[in-house]
Amino acid sequence: AKSQGTSNYYFFTQALQIKSSYRLKIATELREALQLQQFEMVYQPIVRLSDGRILHAESLIRWRLSSGEILMPSNFITIAEETGLIVEIGDWVFNEVLHFLQSIAHDDVSIAVNISPAQLNSPKHSALSWHEKIQEAKILPRRLVFEVTESMMMFKSHLVSSKIKILQQGGCLFSLDDFGTGYSSLASLKNLEFDFIKIDLQFIKELHRDARDKSLVSAMLAMAKGLGLQTIAEGVETVEQVRLLKEMGCDFAQGYYYSKPVSAEEFKDMLSKSNHD
Ligand code: C2E
Ligand code: CA
Ligand code: CA
Ligand code: CA
Repeated sequence: AKSQGTSNYYFFTQALQIKSSYRLKIATELREALQLQQFEMVYQPIVRLSDGRILHAESLIRWRLSSGEILMPSNFITIAEETGLIVEIGDWVFNEVLHFLQSIAHDDVSIAVNISPAQLNSPKHSALSWHEKIQEAKILPRRLVFEVTESMMMFKSHLVSSKIKILQQGGCLFSLDDFGTGYSSLASLKNLEFDFIKIDLQFIKELHRDARDKSLVSAMLAMAKGLGLQTIAEGVETVEQVRLLKEMGCDFAQGYYYSKPVSAEEFKDMLSKSNHD
């Protein structure tokens, strides 16, 4: 029994080592990626349901390897969070979006930026320096919408909430992302003042065939309305979903039905078509 235990231990540690050396490799590559400017932002339009106009987009990161292959965030964000590199990557994302906003001379257009809880919880991240950069860039602060998830509430830290307040007092907007999936959705709404909630795509997927999803989405929309929050449905793929969401009074929709995430240039083309036709 004892030797059995030893060998289990051996395999266990070996598996951990493989995992951590893999992590180390990705972490090194992430650091290089920042220097080599291998990250890119793509933008997915967010459509106003009342008139079909595009005034917003969510920025989403991509990693273009030297081989040309494009890595999705699910392949590297977790490792970036665990190694703390998310702070530098997040600063890069922020600057990139700020420049993008400067290139769009239309004060009604806003861009959403995903912030990871690990980023806000790091003392290396400075909300004050973001605030200063927004002022230097002469961008209306409400053109930046920060998307945070409910998991951020897990930190329950003064650091996180004070950073959010600095950015809110500066005029930036906040969106509660993946709404309905966390363990403390309602507590998040109680503790912080959000401007938008984004209803997670898992509730939207079957909306047109599942009466239970329909009840859940109506309840979320009613609650948002009661709190004075705007609503965005994520992962909208079909015309039936669009029809239902409109009927139910959802404000905005985002998903493949309208567009996949596109390059900065493509998004600007879509903007000018949507707003001048
Ligand atoms: P998220 O914030 O929930 O982003 C929405 C995800 O849904 C995106 O995946 C988007 O491409 C995908 N999506 C959009 N429309 C549809 C649709 O109609 N159907 C389906 N099935 N999916 C749709 P993506 O780009 O792979 O991003 C995954 C996650 O990575 C994001 O989830 C976000 O949590 C994280 N992420 C992305 N960019 C950043 C970033 O710049 N910083 C940080 N910290 N996290 C990021
Ligand atoms: Ca998001
Ligand atoms: Ca989401
Ligand atoms: Ca998500």
